[in-house]
Amino acid sequence: MAHLLIVEDDELLRDGLSAQLMQAGHRIDTAADGEQALARLETDAYEGVVLDLGLPRVDGLTVLRRLRQRLPALPVLILTARDGIEDRVEGLNAGADDYLTKPFNRDELLARLQSMLRRASLPAFGPGARSASAPAPDPGSLRVDPVLPRAWLGGEVIDLTQREWSLLDLLVRHSGQVVSREDVLAVWQSDPGEAGVTSNALEVYVHRLRRKLAGSTLNIRNIRGLGYLLENAGAS
Ligand code: CA
Repeated sequence: MAHLLIVEDDELLRDGLSAQLMQAGHRIDTAADGEQALARLETDAYEGVVLDLGLPRVDGLTVLRRLRQRLPALPVLILTARDGIEDRVEGLNAGADDYLTKPFNRDELLARLQSMLRRASLPAFGPGARSASAPAPDPGSLRVDPVLPRAWLGGEVIDLTQREWSLLDLLVRHSGQVVSREDVLAVWQSDPGEAGVTSNALEVYVHRLRRKLAGSTLNIRNIRGLGYLLENAGAS
């Protein structure tokens, strides 16, 4: 199936996860601290990473930032402490694709991992979805610029405001999953200039983003009481 790296300093958890993921058919390497993780990532090619944020020697966020510089499209699922909402937001900002809060259900980890790997293999959201290179002229394909507030849709540039851009980036990273209003607001509010943003403002930005995606196969669905879901009607 996939060649994965598990980075976790808790030996019991690391061994348990390895065994479970190997049983699911994956090829697993492990690292017990951030330094080992970076060394592994230098020498081996992985299709996905499970990364604990609380790590000795080099912390998980630093590992994530460094690996993102070289491997912008490598799927990364982070593991965060129970009350680590700031870590979670910082992790998503640093380029994590998904997260789980400890303690987590092993079946949920497996499900999220599979969905993350599947998304990474879809052309519309796949490798290069966050790469800075020029977009492929693939109709309906969406690529979000990793640095500037813009995206490409079928090769056409869409200019975005800072908020529209971070909202779209979050939805793309979690495509096929519901992103809660709280998660969007938390990401926006982590930016010092955006402190006062309200839930009403979110509706406005979702509406604007929908208009910018009009004419594509992409739609932002409002899931009442839960949040928003980016759907691709053109995906097979
Ligand atoms: Ca830890």
